[in-house]
Amino acid sequence: MFDKLKNILLHSGYRVILTKKIEKDSHGGLSRGIKGYILPDQLKIFINKRFGANDRVVTLIHELLHEIYPSKTENQVDRLSKTAFSKLNVSQLGFLQFFIMSPAEIRLTLKANQHNA
Ligand SMILES: [Zn+2]
Repeated sequence: MFDKLKNILLHSGYRVILTKKIEKDSHGGLSRGIKGYILPDQLKIFINKRFGANDRVVTLIHELLHEIYPSKTENQVDRLSKTAFSKLNVSQLGFLQFFIMSPAEIRLTLKANQHNA
């Protein structure tokens, strides 16, 4: 499962965009949640910045699963994203976190890690 998610992130051309305002009325997206949504025709995944890092990772997985399994229902995708999140190991979680954190947040995390070393 993680490999599928990683492949899409690295090779499909999708851009992950952090935003504070999620527009509920924009065009063309499947599934419009307040935590995030995907616009396949524009190759964009929007993630709501107001949620914490773990929530954002679950949301990113959720939106990628819409791309991988277009016929699955919202509830199925929701369950699957939570299961996939719970099975991530530390390096897989780190890989996904990189996509949902702003440059400033990444710098803070790297600094914190240095102090712990
Ligand atoms: Zn959804």
